[in-house]
Amino acid sequence: MDSPHLHGLLENQNADLARGALHRPIKRPEDLALLLSPGADAILEEIAQEAKRLSLERFGYTVGLYAPLYLSNICVGKCSYCGFRADLKIVRRTLTQEEITRELQTVRDLGIQDILLVSGETPRNVDTNYLEKAIQSTLEHASSVSLEIAPQPVKDYRAMRRAGATGLTLYQETYDREAYNKVHAFGPKGDFMNRLAALDRAGEAGMRKLTAGALFGLSAWRLEALRLGIHTAYLQKRWWESQISIGLPRLKGTPDMFDIPNRIDDRTLVHMLTVLRVFLPEVGISISTRETAEFKANVLGLGVTQMSAGSKTEPGGYAEPNVSADQFAISDDRSPAEVAEGLLALGFDPVWKDWDRSFVSTV
Ligand code: SF4
Repeated sequence: MDSPHLHGLLENQNADLARGALHRPIKRPEDLALLLSPGADAILEEIAQEAKRLSLERFGYTVGLYAPLYLSNICVGKCSYCGFRADLKIVRRTLTQEEITRELQTVRDLGIQDILLVSGETPRNVDTNYLEKAIQSTLEHASSVSLEIAPQPVKDYRAMRRAGATGLTLYQETYDREAYNKVHAFGPKGDFMNRLAALDRAGEAGMRKLTAGALFGLSAWRLEALRLGIHTAYLQKRWWESQISIGLPRLKGTPDMFDIPNRIDDRTLVHMLTVLRVFLPEVGISISTRETAEFKANVLGLGVTQMSAGSKTEPGGYAEPNVSADQFAISDDRSPAEVAEGLLALGFDPVWKDWDRSFVSTV
């Protein structure tokens, strides 16, 4: 994915070399490395201006709104940073199909039409059959549904695609093998290559929206962002018929026993966001539920195309808040209507619907 040559460029200290990369019309991985290097720290304002220009040119002032719907917080994994890890004593549940319907009715009443179904690694409780039914129920209350679930084989992604799912979000968490093995020491998520290839399997199954990402904070950020950029550019090339997006969550509010190894400050997150926008002008960029309303407002014009609104990260959290445990703390507790008002006040257009099945004859 990367090379000693790119690692060398990532250590560049020269602002002019970074500026040269910023103004190259077609960016190469070498330019991405220079833009992420310490030499680029001094030209962050110039990078931000270019990111703003490209974002407005490709996406205008639109920002898509979606809601995650957590299906289960039962998990066989013990990922060090996660509030659902199997060894934590928390209230656990997997939603029944009736409970899913109740959640969907509540979310629909909030105005959201784009749903992301989320589950931990719990193959016994959340299998393909369960997910197919959940997808079908979702489409009775929303116009589009994507998945954020454990990696699946192509045949299962195909079944979910047939049921009506159109997208898959799958964050690698970290592209650093050593850091990956350390935090995923127990459970099926320990298989780095199986996870890395999952978006390709979803592309093969016909998912029209593929979202990659890393959980920033697990490893050194410059190399992590370089690898995410290269992976995303590869996905764009290979799955050119699908819309490719990235998510940029950073670790915050982890379980007490986990110290974040490489904490990311606001300026660093802005650096990554703007460089990735400049390197990948056509990808969607989602800003995490973990970010505050103030931070989101500050980075809106710099490349963000999508954000969640009114999110709950516990199963059943929309219809019955505070019954089960959530995966991580949310820093923006505004309702979807308040998020939309905030966007309008800043001159942006909230988009409540990502896709409509009437665009095509079959889903
Ligand atoms: S990150 Fe996912 S697989 Fe790991 S413990 Fe949390 S829910 Fe389970």
